[in-house]
Amino acid sequence: MAPLIDAHGRTVRYLRISVTDRCDLRCRYCMSEKMTFLPRSALLALEEIAIIAERFVARGVDKIRLSGGEPLVRRDIADLVDRLGRHVGAGLNELTLTTNGTRLADHAHRLAAAGVRRVNVSLDSLRPDRFRYITRHGDLSVVLNGIRAATEAGLRIKVNAVALKGLNEDELGDMLAWCVDQGHDLSLIETMPLGAIDEDRTDRFLPLTGVMAELGARFGLRRDALRTGGPARYWRIEGTETRLGLISPLTANFCDGCNRVRLTTEGKLYLCLGHDDQVDLKAALREGGVAGLDAAIDRGLTLKPARHDFHIGRGSAPAVSRHMSVTGG
Ligand code: SAM
Repeated sequence: MAPLIDAHGRTVRYLRISVTDRCDLRCRYCMSEKMTFLPRSALLALEEIAIIAERFVARGVDKIRLSGGEPLVRRDIADLVDRLGRHVGAGLNELTLTTNGTRLADHAHRLAAAGVRRVNVSLDSLRPDRFRYITRHGDLSVVLNGIRAATEAGLRIKVNAVALKGLNEDELGDMLAWCVDQGHDLSLIETMPLGAIDEDRTDRFLPLTGVMAELGARFGLRRDALRTGGPARYWRIEGTETRLGLISPLTANFCDGCNRVRLTTEGKLYLCLGHDDQVDLKAALREGGVAGLDAAIDRGLTLKPARHDFHIGRGSAPAVSRHMSVTGG
């Protein structure tokens, strides 16, 4: 099969799949308190997700990340991980997840047995009250328990924290120290203008340029050459196993090397987090089988834009109306 090369010469090797738009938390920067979710009848069946994912693997994708919504709230998620896990080492270099960690304790061993080696856990504060405020009702101890269970199961952890002005900006250094202590990696993320929420994102936007200056004064940071084809740049904390990633789509653009596409739980393939161009892989598969799917994937590739156009400013509308939970963060 022809490899997946877009109109800008970039090869797509990374598929992110949002397996559900539902989530058991309501992080303030992500979604509104009264979020409306898709009816279950709109979702791809597990078998359809697997067929689409396997088609991407056959066409050169070597990394798959399951996300959402919260991937571990989907009832048949373990079966999907088992199935996709069979491709690890045989087409796939990596199968991984991004999770809020609330159900990680229940799933950790099965994920590890299926071939998952590391997971990203979203955690924006290590202070219980603050964590509850940001997530609107989350229990920090449950997430920490999930991280512990995952570590015991042999999974490496990368903590993802959205840097939020006036909310967690004063504890990002402590979070990095905690990650060093626990042997985890940490990625800091700038809040992105995706979907309407109950507040103005400008109030919470914290440029990572300033955060880095503070972290550099407290930790020995050494630039790490790792490139994943994503928006992150990496540093090593001297003398430790911990890697610090900065995902700063607003203050530094890395779309030139973008190698990813995103499948929503409704079966739409989005070519960029920040654009509306998409093709309907569910319809293509149901109407045309695998040949229809291949044709739709090829059509999608021609639509992949050169870069996103994120902009945060008071009163400005989100770049796209889709929330991160729909496209899969
Ligand atoms: N429920 C899972 C979790 O919490 O990790 C997976 C989905 S969540 C949408 C994926 C990641 O997107 C999380 O790290 C979350 O913090 C981040 N995220 C959500 N909305 C965002 C936004 N508007 N800007 C930046 N990051 C966002």
